[in-house]
Amino acid sequence: MNSDNPKKQIVILGSTGSIGTQALEVIAEHPDQFEAYALTANNRVDLLIEQARRFMPDTVVIANKAHYPRLKEALADLPIKVYAGPEALEQVVEAGPVDMVLTAMVGYSGLKPTIRALQAGKDIALANKETMVVAGEIINSLALKHQAVILPVDSEHSAVFQCLEPYNPIEKIILTASGGPFRTYSEEALKFVSKEQALRHPNWQMGAKITIDSASMMNKGFEVIEAKWLFGVRPDQIEVVVHPQSIVHSMVQFQDGSVKAQLGLPDMKLPILYAFSYPVRLKTSYPRVDFPKIASLSFEHPDLHKFRNLALAYEAMHRGGNMPCVLNAANEVAVEAFLQDRIGFVAMSDLIEYTMLKADFIAKPCYEDYVDSDSLAREIARNYLNTL
Ligand code: MG
Repeated sequence: MNSDNPKKQIVILGSTGSIGTQALEVIAEHPDQFEAYALTANNRVDLLIEQARRFMPDTVVIANKAHYPRLKEALADLPIKVYAGPEALEQVVEAGPVDMVLTAMVGYSGLKPTIRALQAGKDIALANKETMVVAGEIINSLALKHQAVILPVDSEHSAVFQCLEPYNPIEKIILTASGGPFRTYSEEALKFVSKEQALRHPNWQMGAKITIDSASMMNKGFEVIEAKWLFGVRPDQIEVVVHPQSIVHSMVQFQDGSVKAQLGLPDMKLPILYAFSYPVRLKTSYPRVDFPKIASLSFEHPDLHKFRNLALAYEAMHRGGNMPCVLNAANEVAVEAFLQDRIGFVAMSDLIEYTMLKADFIAKPCYEDYVDSDSLAREIARNYLNTL
């Protein structure tokens, strides 16, 4: 931590999103521990202005330059630096006083700023799983090289992290999945679900992209790949178990057969706070688990025929190389098309499968290969969409 300021200085990339706003609540609840050094947003300039006036960060960045004049003018009376554009967003993570960067932006856009933060030796509170899905190998080697720590914010990975034992290897990671709003739907019924239904997650409050990914179980597929890189395990050491109550956030099995689980109410503020405060736990007044009220915890196998995205994610992980990057790019196009009512829920899987089939495979990609694979996969997916 910076010696002349005892509070941890945190950059929140994507402060106007669901995770970003919850992270700011965490900061507000622990004002003597944390300070928001910088806030960034893509387009939600009004909320960014409101957040800046309340939290008084050193810097704010709006990625979309069109909003710059409005942002600059609205904060003109305050000593806050105001920048715009993707380059400013990448630079802000490198600033000297920064202790930690929370990567809470959506999708592939998280990759570049995360790389820049790691290169500057900043610790990462990782809330952008797509970064690990696309380029986990590069991210890991950068963290090692620059001695930066990656702390998981995803509730499942935070749970696994909390279960780890320093002297005992993992035999198996058991990632829990709520199963989303369509867990009990038939394959046939899945074809006709609307985006309004898909956007209604039973347990977690999240942004639109991740809520659709949860409904399709692509989110769980990404989390499997994320777990592989975060915890250095083989694909066959990661099992997904559907657990509709979302109380057990994930589990680790050790080589003697013993299993450790981390439990809690489904509230993203818990893993955010733990990533911020690690290795200590800070006092909170959040609601506590009332076990008799929950009454029962249940577990079942995921249905890979119904939720083909999860099977496609496993396939991409097994093939390795640039395939998870292709999977992610195709999924981003698919989710966007679904949210625009251009394709149905099940057709998202068709689009992703087609893109994975058509994309060139690169076994050992470098950073530029990932950038190319991402844009080529998007092109393949968009061309397919245009034939429908
Ligand atoms: Mg999660």
